[in-house]
Amino acid sequence: MKLAIFTQGHEPAAQGRLGVIQGDRIADLSGLEGAPATMAACCALGADAAARLAGMAEAAPTLPLADVTLHAPFPRPARNVFCVGKNYHEHAKEFAQSGFDASTKDVVPEAPVVFTKPPSAVIGPGETIPGHLDPTKSVDYEGELAVVIGKGGRGIAAADALGHVFGYTIVNDVTSRQLQHKHRQWVLGKGIDGFCPMGPAVLTADEVPDPRTLRLRTWVNGELRQDATVADLIFDIPTLISTISAYITLEPGDIIATGTPVGVGIGFNPPKFLVAGDLVRIEIDGIGVLENPVG
Ligand code: MN
Repeated sequence: MKLAIFTQGHEPAAQGRLGVIQGDRIADLSGLEGAPATMAACCALGADAAARLAGMAEAAPTLPLADVTLHAPFPRPARNVFCVGKNYHEHAKEFAQSGFDASTKDVVPEAPVVFTKPPSAVIGPGETIPGHLDPTKSVDYEGELAVVIGKGGRGIAAADALGHVFGYTIVNDVTSRQLQHKHRQWVLGKGIDGFCPMGPAVLTADEVPDPRTLRLRTWVNGELRQDATVADLIFDIPTLISTISAYITLEPGDIIATGTPVGVGIGFNPPKFLVAGDLVRIEIDGIGVLENPVG
């Protein structure tokens, strides 16, 4: 099932409604007695969440998808978005060779490189990435599969980790490469307002028996830049969940962006940074397309 947050007409984004995408229509769960109002509330429904939401959707009125605006599934996440750096072999190489990595001399990390993006960085599908907020004009894209946590926990074993996944979405880990390099740590270069496009939907985990088979592609202005499967991850999803939850209790609705494959702008010589007017399109089979213009 594909869950999304949407508005219609001139409704304010803050009043986004929960919907279930069904082909070219969306079922509106917002008027149903007992239905969750937010994506985080869906994540907290428990093990049979997808089945319960499917039951609710059967009773819900539907609207043409073309008549609504989709927003980030978590327009303002309760906590920072967890992210993982250098988690695809070929990308780790291109990053090391670019000269922009000031964090370490290791090409392939010995343990997951975890950082976060603040909730204020999140924007939705179609919204403009505010590239003008990077004074160094070194804005880059990173198409990524993001894991959405259902059942929370601390000390989650890798063997149990996929049982804690509610679903999957797409994140663009937009980055100012000069700020990432200058400040050594990545929070400023990756935490700029609007530098975390997310969406267009959450695909529930029951429809993804093996996330390693998911294929991710990124285009800039129609040019294919990234094309990889999640199987290429250096640290797989169970390892990431077990690593983070060893220290930080994961909660329903937490988001983990799993890293980007080879093909980012700094992988080219000279680097191909994003400029105003560019269009970044990220697609993951089954989840959909996350497309954002650059301003
Ligand atoms: Mn990234």
